[in-house]
Amino acid sequence: MSDHLFNLSAATKARTHDLMAIEPPHLEDDFAQNTFSLEEMRKRLPKDVFVGMRNSIELSAPLASKHAEIVALTMKEWAIERGATHFVHWFQPLTGGTAGKHDSFINPSSVGKAVTALRGADLIRGEPDASSFPNGGLRGTHEARGYTVWDPSSPAFLVENVNGCYLAIPTCFVSWKGDALDHKTPLLRSIDALDRHARRVLALFGEDVTRVQTTCGPEQEYYFIDEEYYYRRPDLVNCGRTLIGAAPPKGQQLDDHYFGEIPARILACMLEVEKELYKLGIPVKTRHNEVAPSQYEVAPVFETSGIAADHQQLMMITLKSVARKHGLVCLLHEKPFAGINGSGKHVNWSIGTNSGRNLLDPGDKPHENLIFLVFCAAVVRAVYRHQDLLRSAVASAANDHRLGANEAPPAILSVFLGKALKGIFDQLINGDPLSSAKALDLFLGVTMLSLVPSHTGDRNRTSPFAFTGNKFEFRSVGSSQSIAFPNVVLNLAVAESLDYVANKLRDALKRAGDGNGAQFRTVVLDLIADMARESEAILFEGDNYATAWHEEAERRGLLNLRTTVDALTVMTSRKNVDLFDRYGVLSEEELHSRQEVALEQYEIALDIEGRTAESMARTRVLPAAAGYLHELLQTVLNASQANVEADGVHATAEELSKGITALRAAIEELKAALGHGSDDLFAEATRKRDEVIPAMNKVREACDHLEGLVPADRWTLPTYTEMLFVN
Ligand code: ADP
Ligand code: MG
Repeated sequence: MSDHLFNLSAATKARTHDLMAIEPPHLEDDFAQNTFSLEEMRKRLPKDVFVGMRNSIELSAPLASKHAEIVALTMKEWAIERGATHFVHWFQPLTGGTAGKHDSFINPSSVGKAVTALRGADLIRGEPDASSFPNGGLRGTHEARGYTVWDPSSPAFLVENVNGCYLAIPTCFVSWKGDALDHKTPLLRSIDALDRHARRVLALFGEDVTRVQTTCGPEQEYYFIDEEYYYRRPDLVNCGRTLIGAAPPKGQQLDDHYFGEIPARILACMLEVEKELYKLGIPVKTRHNEVAPSQYEVAPVFETSGIAADHQQLMMITLKSVARKHGLVCLLHEKPFAGINGSGKHVNWSIGTNSGRNLLDPGDKPHENLIFLVFCAAVVRAVYRHQDLLRSAVASAANDHRLGANEAPPAILSVFLGKALKGIFDQLINGDPLSSAKALDLFLGVTMLSLVPSHTGDRNRTSPFAFTGNKFEFRSVGSSQSIAFPNVVLNLAVAESLDYVANKLRDALKRAGDGNGAQFRTVVLDLIADMARESEAILFEGDNYATAWHEEAERRGLLNLRTTVDALTVMTSRKNVDLFDRYGVLSEEELHSRQEVALEQYEIALDIEGRTAESMARTRVLPAAAGYLHELLQTVLNASQANVEADGVHATAEELSKGITALRAAIEELKAALGHGSDDLFAEATRKRDEVIPAMNKVREACDHLEGLVPADRWTLPTYTEMLFVN
């Protein structure tokens, strides 16, 4: 390991000592002050327009166009009062990020002056020239028109900069034919699908509900490192992760970072991040150190999924931008450092009514809570039937480093229920009567703890999909990914299960006739038991890292889609195309476009990584090693002239020379693996996976070996110790 540790540049030294102070947040005043919130609308809009807006937000009801006109005008006034000069139709293209074209509010008047305007039409529809966004074949550039369409369910917000501010209006992005070119459109469609069928189920229970929503609380893991190290690492700049770098003597073995004291500069930055997020109405709630040095987590209070998806994007953007002010860089990559914990995004997810009732809340008597049990069983069945889709929704080159490594859930999907709920499921599966004594015992005894969200062992942190008290937690999502598509798949899969439940229950109840309450209970429990039996294979309470589990999962017939290519292959199976189509979430063409974009992104990521690794090895590592070899050989020569024994130097030169030869060979292999072998995207992605990744690994191995031999002052790349421990 190179050892010019703490030989900090003056700038870095200053940054680590002089913390940037900001005006502390005033929680209640700051919160949502930069959003055109319902509260703001209540104050500013005529009553009927406000009610229209509220229905459109809460019930997804369409807004009358004359009302939209008034909302646009009011929104513009509000934004201009706050200093906005431009508005942006903000959307979420298939790249997984966000985008928008800025339009000025200005309109030149006939007398050579200017007036500001935001017409209803401008609010509702935009036409960005967005032909360069990947669209997976949905739209040739000759028909490049794409439209952004206002999504009133998510509040518009202001984006501030030292020199001004603009109004961002959340939108959906669709082609001129109406195809979804973004992640938001299918998300809203999937929420509607789930709403429809959840309400059908509830109606059979005699519950009349106006709207069922999914709720989502994503926990974001990330790294903060000093910007100096970031800018001195081409791999971090190009790829967001280190492609070479020897393991540090001290990594995370001691677990001394986890939940420890947050370093002062990091805390200063977090406080500013939180202040900015509060202003955007994002209810950030928890922060803490993660397992690895320099790794942290932030989580908001859950919101409805559409808003949560927008807010999650804003959270990532804010983390990155505020970090820069503090001389830090936020790394959102799933695996920035080899051998050190990667970062994920645990997507906490539940189903609730618009009156605030959580349908996955077991209550005091879970075994009697038929609605809870039926919804739980529907979720379990959905995960069982659509493991493939859930895996494909989180597939990326970056997340492949995480899934299956010994820290994140494996690529095999399974559901952890916890002792209490598993007990009930077991009774159902075995056909035992749900004895209240047994079930209550499970819930109210020691295992009551399992219902209380906590960090106790019973949480089973190795599970990819866990019931955590009153919600499920999908843990396979990567730290840099948009949560939108994973939510789409989850909502859709569960919508199908609820549709199934509604149909089965309706038919069974018809057969049973006008029975009494006891009969109803029997019918429902039979259905739940059937579903539990059907999906039993997906239930697993043990250690998801164990090889024994991987063997057992195979015996159970569960899928193990190890890489992105495997996962994306199954994405467009007949079953999946039909599923998306049947519930109106994505057409076959739209689904194919997502598959194509994801595959293309995978292939491009590997290409950029391969090229970066090759270049760093050639232009950073080789010269450092060769320069040192020269120095050693010179010493050997000089020593022999002076008749001084130099065996040690000679041996060092030999070792170094071997290392250089090995690196050279690895570079050549990598070079040969790069380039485009095939025009077929699947073939090319597969080839890159099978050739570029192993070649990169060899380059890395050779570089990391040399890092241990070359003197620290010749090594130009910041080391793991520097990046992870300077704060
Ligand atoms: P942990 O790290 O123990 O899982 P956190 O408090 O960090 O717990 O995160 C839990 C997340 O789950 C929070 O974002 C929280 O708002 C969210 N959550 C709680 N209840 C629900 C719910 N009904 N639906 C969706 N998310 C929820
Ligand atoms: Mg969690």
